[in-house]
Amino acid sequence: TYNFSAGPAILPADVLKQAQTELLDWNHTGASVMELSHRGKEFDACAIEATQNLRSILNVPNNYKILFLQGGARAQFAAVPLNILGGKRAADYIDSGYWSQCAADEADKYCQANRVDIKTKHDGKVALKPMANWQLNQDAAYVHYCPNETIDGLAIFEEPNFADKIVVADYSSCILSKPIDVSRYGIIYAGAQKNIGPSGITIVIVREDLLGKSHTALPSVLDYAIESKHDSMFNTPPTFAWYLSGLVFKWIKQLGGLAAMEQRNLQKATTLYQYIDGSDFYQNHIAKPNRSIMNVPFVSPNEEIDKCFVAQATKAGIIGIKGHRIVGGMRASIYNAMDLDGVNYLIDFMRHFEKTQG
Ligand code: PLP
Repeated sequence: TYNFSAGPAILPADVLKQAQTELLDWNHTGASVMELSHRGKEFDACAIEATQNLRSILNVPNNYKILFLQGGARAQFAAVPLNILGGKRAADYIDSGYWSQCAADEADKYCQANRVDIKTKHDGKVALKPMANWQLNQDAAYVHYCPNETIDGLAIFEEPNFADKIVVADYSSCILSKPIDVSRYGIIYAGAQKNIGPSGITIVIVREDLLGKSHTALPSVLDYAIESKHDSMFNTPPTFAWYLSGLVFKWIKQLGGLAAMEQRNLQKATTLYQYIDGSDFYQNHIAKPNRSIMNVPFVSPNEEIDKCFVAQATKAGIIGIKGHRIVGGMRASIYNAMDLDGVNYLIDFMRHFEKTQG
């Protein structure tokens, strides 16, 4: 079976095999890692190693804290304003699609979330305005954006370079897909369930000078300063998910780090988009410069045929390919753990399906 689900997504097979062999007796402790105290020295070593490996593969500077929290990316939609608004009343929210709009809707509860719409058209396709054309507001405490819109299949590949702006980015569906310059951001957050590990864990990377400004009503478990002081163990962390994420970080290191990961991802995405562009039967509606390399939405000539595609794909062992309910069609999520063989298998199926419809 090839799983193209947008999340929770597949984990690398090698990681799952390792987890399977040590499930009942981890690290000669005689217990499963999920049964060990998060305060014990064994789990502590595992947590520290995972954090250090993430720091090294993503090249996170020393003046940034790495937190392993709970509540998914949606909890961060609230945590961000409550942690860093300080005395300010407004923040800029770049509107590039579904998830960035959800972040702004949540922020509305705590501040004035200024929507900055960057959607535009390019050759009749959906595109996003380049960063230089973003209309930011002087009074905003920070600017929030989403570099990869998981549902729309839209991506922003530029990295922020705004003088005197605190940039917050929801990297949920593209973290670790390529190298980035962490020093350009104030906060990066990401739910784990796409490129990192199982759902239930959320990574927050926060610049130290942003700590300690939180709203008094902020729940302690979402307070970056408190979580940082307690090494993300203010309450019981999702230990099994943390351990599995650590195995994924090691897997990325073994494959050659994020530069190698980027090559692998580009190759998969290019192969799939080239096939779609070369076909009269399938279409992708996103302009080339903004095409996601993680989530590839596409449609057939009509909705009935889309339904038939999804049903027949499932029979052929291709699952998780149905598009999100709000956009319809199909979506192939090709996160880090998906390999080129999986993409080629999908393309073979698409070709075969097109013939049977013709
Ligand atoms: N942001 C993005 C870009 C996402 O893709 C998702 C989920 O798919 C979310 C936020 C919400 O994440 P969670 O379900 O972890 O709250």
